[in-house]
Amino acid sequence: MTDTMTAHPVIKGWCPGALRPMASGDGLVVRVRPRLALLTPEQAAGLADLAQVHGTGILQLTNRANLQVRGVTETQLAGLQEGLVALGLLDPVLDPQAEARLNIIVAPGWSGQDTPALWTALRDALTATDAPRLPGKFGFALDVSGQPCLRDDSADIRIERAGGGIVVRADGSPHGRSATATQAVDLAMRMARWFAASGGIGSDGRGRMRDHLARGAVLPPSLAADTAPDPAGARPAMIGFDFGLIEPAVLHHLVQNAGGNLHLTPWRGVHLPGTPDLATLRADPAFLLDHADPRHRLFACTGAPGCPQAIGPTRDLARTLGLLPPPGKTLHISGCAKGCAHPGPADLTLTWTATGIAVIPDGRAADPAPRIVAPGSLAATLKEWTHATPL
Ligand code: SF4
Repeated sequence: MTDTMTAHPVIKGWCPGALRPMASGDGLVVRVRPRLALLTPEQAAGLADLAQVHGTGILQLTNRANLQVRGVTETQLAGLQEGLVALGLLDPVLDPQAEARLNIIVAPGWSGQDTPALWTALRDALTATDAPRLPGKFGFALDVSGQPCLRDDSADIRIERAGGGIVVRADGSPHGRSATATQAVDLAMRMARWFAASGGIGSDGRGRMRDHLARGAVLPPSLAADTAPDPAGARPAMIGFDFGLIEPAVLHHLVQNAGGNLHLTPWRGVHLPGTPDLATLRADPAFLLDHADPRHRLFACTGAPGCPQAIGPTRDLARTLGLLPPPGKTLHISGCAKGCAHPGPADLTLTWTATGIAVIPDGRAADPAPRIVAPGSLAATLKEWTHATPL
């Protein structure tokens, strides 16, 4: 619990897993990291059933392209884990530390062999007994399917395209080291080891590559950048969900009309690389198919009462007040200064504090607030951000 607004939420510095869930106000959060961020129809349907039986029934998409089962009790956990193993969504030989290192986001819509081969090599390297010990949030972006589309997403080491080849890039550096597909993962691991050995990890166990480079760390000649990656491309089309939450029945309906596999995106959505029945999906209001839908740009964490650190409600606040971002803008509502739902800056952030709601333009949840308003006067303060204003 925070004692003041931008004061000091509990920063855990790690993400939940299926083997090491995180306690939240609504029970355990069990994070599933599917191979290649891909669910087969059978896996997706099975996961929907598991969430129904072993949790509150709510599945949550994360900005790491994972899915979380929420509201799991201690007594339900073993049954859920067994179900995940049976679906091929949890490797039974992993230990929790190795599972936690599997922070790999994958460009949705990939095809061909490079992405699966690189993912498998990365998985093997990160779960090996000699894998570098990295901070809990340290992650990799596998972005080799056409032009990079993960540039704005959290990762510390990026594997991208450069011309017809591959480049391994430390996040924060505009250029990377060229490599062949067979060299890329070894290069990425050497970069990760250099990060740890050169002081990238603080005394609190946390650290990010971008911050390390910004403090003046310089890659050694054998890892130094020599190539510019390809320019960023467009994100592939996806289906979104209100606040990234999916109910089991909605997931079943999606599976029935997806026409193939589901690629989880780091943008709280699902890309369908098969032949989906879009007319049927479009008729279901649970699916956000329109790229311009403002709900794609509305971010809110669990908030109160689900999160023990929350000072106030978030999603219910948005629903009650009809808060939606105007065209092209992002709106982030955070239950405390930690800013879980949207770690980067938003056009407008509302952060619950002990003294009211901080209204922060162009900033993050923990940034200083030019004004703090009482919850009761928020709607009047934010007229231009409410549903009452034509979008
Ligand atoms: S940002 Fe939201 S979900 Fe994260 S700790 Fe604060 S209240 Fe909880």
